[in-house]
Amino acid sequence: MSVINILSPHVADLIAAGEVVERPASVVKELCENAIDAGAKNVTVEIRGGGAAYIRVTDDGCGMSPEDAGVAFLRHATSKLRDEGDLAAITTMGFRGEALAAISAVSKIRLTTRERGAESGTLVLLEAGEILEMQPFGCPEGTTMEVRELFYNTPARQKFLKSDRSEASACQAAALRCALAHPEICFRFLRDGDEQFFSPGDGREDSCLYALLGRETAANMLKCVGGQDGIEVSGYVSSPSFGRGNRGAQFFICNGRAIRSQLLQAALEQAYKNTLLTGRYPGCVLYLTLGFGSVDVNVHPAKTEVKFSEERRVFDAVYYAVLSALAGEERGRAPSAELPASVKPRGDFYRTMSAEQFRESGLSASSPRPAVSGAAAARAPSGSWRPTGLRAPDPQWQTRFDLSAPVSTEKSAQAPAAAGFPAPAGSRIVENAVQNVEKPRLPDHKIVGEAMKTFLIVEQGEALILIDKHAAHERMIFDRLKAQDRAVMAQSLLAPIPLRPDGADAELIEKNAALFSSLGFEIEPYGEHEYVLRALPADMEAGDAAAAVEEICEKLRRGRAPRPEDARDEYLHTVACKAAIKAGWDNSPEELERVAAEVLSGRVKYCPHGRPVSVVLTKKELDKLFRRIV
Ligand code: ADP
Ligand code: MG
Repeated sequence: MSVINILSPHVADLIAAGEVVERPASVVKELCENAIDAGAKNVTVEIRGGGAAYIRVTDDGCGMSPEDAGVAFLRHATSKLRDEGDLAAITTMGFRGEALAAISAVSKIRLTTRERGAESGTLVLLEAGEILEMQPFGCPEGTTMEVRELFYNTPARQKFLKSDRSEASACQAAALRCALAHPEICFRFLRDGDEQFFSPGDGREDSCLYALLGRETAANMLKCVGGQDGIEVSGYVSSPSFGRGNRGAQFFICNGRAIRSQLLQAALEQAYKNTLLTGRYPGCVLYLTLGFGSVDVNVHPAKTEVKFSEERRVFDAVYYAVLSALAGEERGRAPSAELPASVKPRGDFYRTMSAEQFRESGLSASSPRPAVSGAAAARAPSGSWRPTGLRAPDPQWQTRFDLSAPVSTEKSAQAPAAAGFPAPAGSRIVENAVQNVEKPRLPDHKIVGEAMKTFLIVEQGEALILIDKHAAHERMIFDRLKAQDRAVMAQSLLAPIPLRPDGADAELIEKNAALFSSLGFEIEPYGEHEYVLRALPADMEAGDAAAAVEEICEKLRRGRAPRPEDARDEYLHTVACKAAIKAGWDNSPEELERVAAEVLSGRVKYCPHGRPVSVVLTKKELDKLFRRIV
């Protein structure tokens, strides 16, 4: 008996549609790209109800003739590619002729379009890929594509849609990426009738960034220019003191296409090595221009991933451009300078702290800057191109590509920016809850001193013990929180702290209100996209709270813990780390004594991430080092 069926074209279309149209944001992206390819100068994107209900993209591009409007929705119908030779160097956003076929297969569409200079336009109505009506129509030059009831005929897809709010922010992010990629086009994005952003379309990277990412982000970016041998890099990177809790502010644009690339991400982050607080990520808007033949965009239907033919050279171009920008930080010009007066500042939707908290957090520009130049910069390998005087990338960069997890778990012990943290007022170090266990008899100890405001030096009997005060205290807090099998104790704030999470974080905060409250954060909605923090975990400084919330959101997003009971530990790590005393702080002798006693008691050996909190040098080892004995 025969069991193999040939699928009907309709079913085949539905299956193919799934690859291109995953969610409303994919529709926004594809329609914006078609508008860009059509040579539009102005593009307006409007969504309602998270996009699944309604998406409209209007452009003033070349428009379509009636004949083209009739075939544009067929699979493999494209004006951008003729033969296989064209595939080798793709210069347009689209080329597969799939998007309109895929979108129309799973929605209801109304297209109006008029070719430049044509007498009249065309109206086309479609449902599930079938043309219901097509007729001449009076409309402006350009194209308006309305997509309604996305996935109305594929209930399985519909079920996977998230809340309107999160679909809407994905749509907005998709349009924003297109807008950033094309400073020469004026983009407008409206959600439920309200304008969310616009870009001036004056062709300037700086005004585009300023208008789209907000004044504060722009003011903390450094100009970045570089490249070599046909690879050009330009754009902006964040100042090391302006790290974020996730990679949401990294934008890479390759030949006009916003892409995701672990290679570029690694190159960027390598350049910030040891200059950013751990757990913070740099932001960037980087434009790469290279020969159309040296980059293959035909890797995946969504075309957000690309393959570079010469990865090493691309990596180096980005790495050294960023490193030079950081080295010349003082000279770098913030893009907000010299802006045309027509550019109004938009909402800062990439900001989570108020300017004041930001200053107070010690991360502000006035805190000591890490030096990127100098001795460390002098080391550079031979062979690959580099500007003189800049540090070479880690030779292991290729193996470091799995950047889904934070690169390192080391905390601020190494982070130079931490040196600017203010010393807290009263003692912050609370005895460990498990401390009332009977103590073993130990020889007396003496704190000899503290080195680099980071390491305690303790003498005990015949041993010298070096203690990382932050790591040890972090462990003490973590153990205490874990031992109390209940909600983390919260301290109410006299002046609530405003929080401005981005769309994705806002949704996580709302969904996980109970979790945040069990961790000691009392967060209340305050206006449309704002929240206030009314209470925070007992030991935490107000200046650390916003970063802690952001980090917990990032952990929620990653959902890394294999078992639910481990998940809580992950969040407690964040609370403990942010609440602990930090390298660079001045601590009272009593505080340091508590930490030393706890470590010497043997109860605290490793920080919650598994790093040792102390290093022991015995008298014998010291004698050997000095060749007093052999
Ligand atoms: P692709 O973009 O890969 O060619 P699409 O399915 O997205 O495939 O579009 C099919 C064709 O429809 C395009 O090649 C183009 O000729 C035409 N088209 C789509 N959108 C527009 C638009 N906004 N303006 C002008 N022509 C368009
Ligand atoms: Mg297209």
